[in-house]
Amino acid sequence: MIPGSFEYYAPRSLSDAVNFLAAHRDDVKILSGGQSLLPLMKMRLSKPGFVVDIGRIPGLDTIAQEGNHIVIGAMATHAQIEYSDFLKKQCPLLPQTATTIADVQVRNRGTIGGSIAHADPAGDWPATILALDAEIKSVGPNGERWVKCHDFFLGLLMSVLEPDEIVTAIRVPVTGNDKTAYLKAAPRSSGFAVVGVAVRIAVDGAGNCSRAAVGITGVTDKAYRAERVEQILTGKKLDAKLIENAAAEATRNIEVIEDINGSSEYRTQLTHVYAARAIESALTG
Ligand SMILES: Cc1cc2nc3c(=O)[nH]c(=O)nc-3n(C[C@H](O)[C@H](O)[C@H](O)COP(=O)(O)OP(=O)(O)OC[C@H]3O[C@@H](n4cnc5c(N)ncnc54)[C@H](O)[C@@H]3O)c2cc1C
Repeated sequence: MIPGSFEYYAPRSLSDAVNFLAAHRDDVKILSGGQSLLPLMKMRLSKPGFVVDIGRIPGLDTIAQEGNHIVIGAMATHAQIEYSDFLKKQCPLLPQTATTIADVQVRNRGTIGGSIAHADPAGDWPATILALDAEIKSVGPNGERWVKCHDFFLGLLMSVLEPDEIVTAIRVPVTGNDKTAYLKAAPRSSGFAVVGVAVRIAVDGAGNCSRAAVGITGVTDKAYRAERVEQILTGKKLDAKLIENAAAEATRNIEVIEDINGSSEYRTQLTHVYAARAIESALTG
């Protein structure tokens, strides 16, 4: 439980951080909240020679509205998002998700940028940002780029990020009157999702579902959008039978994993149940 030795660097600017990363590209890790990196280093599953702490770079933890979007700095902690009155009004799915992450200690240190960069297939944020059609901003030696979250995650702990790229912000839409919910089934010992379901539904004046977005995590090697569920819901009045029929399609075309938390049959059934509950919960508030 003691990490290997490494050189620690705490730059005060993004450009210094990027230069340092580029210089040590093959042997360096970015430190944000440390809630995933430090356990890995202590177990010697990760042994970087250099660690760049981006926590002292100013301006990386702000949450601000820009037109119809909200830009959240990568260093915003889970707790900052959980308690943000602004987000509770403008994009409640974010605080709804944050409250379910781990415990108070982890939420106080862990960051949204670190979680997304880590690309844990059981992490909560990937499901939610998929349901929000978020974009992820990163900065590297070639400048900055925005990547749609649908293109960001590649698989187990893998994303399109280069080792010398820093996630700096996440952009999500203001969701206004949309109905949202995040529900997950998780063992008490870790808090990590066996299945987590993020739902965003818009209902038109006639009471029909005009748009549905359902992001699911914990079920396969990366979070995904349950497109078949969305298709079944869209354009219809959402009653219990329709929701049940739609939720039954939550793992359509997905290779459901099995692990110590359950067989793939168990997870498939759990995903069905949690998809239905999350849709109901979004509609009933
Ligand atoms: C006991 C426990 C329970 C947990 N339960 C949950 C849970 O229920 N749900 C959940 O979603 N998570 C859970 N987590 C993980 C937690 O949310 C972490 O905060 C998160 O996974 C990583 O965020 P971080 O800021 O701590 O990143 P770090 O640990 O600092 O970094 C994680 C990885 O991402 C890289 N990285 C970090 N920041 C950036 C960046 N800005 N740009 C590019 N790369 C970066 C690092 O180099 C490292 O590889 C749990 C953790 C613990 C210890």
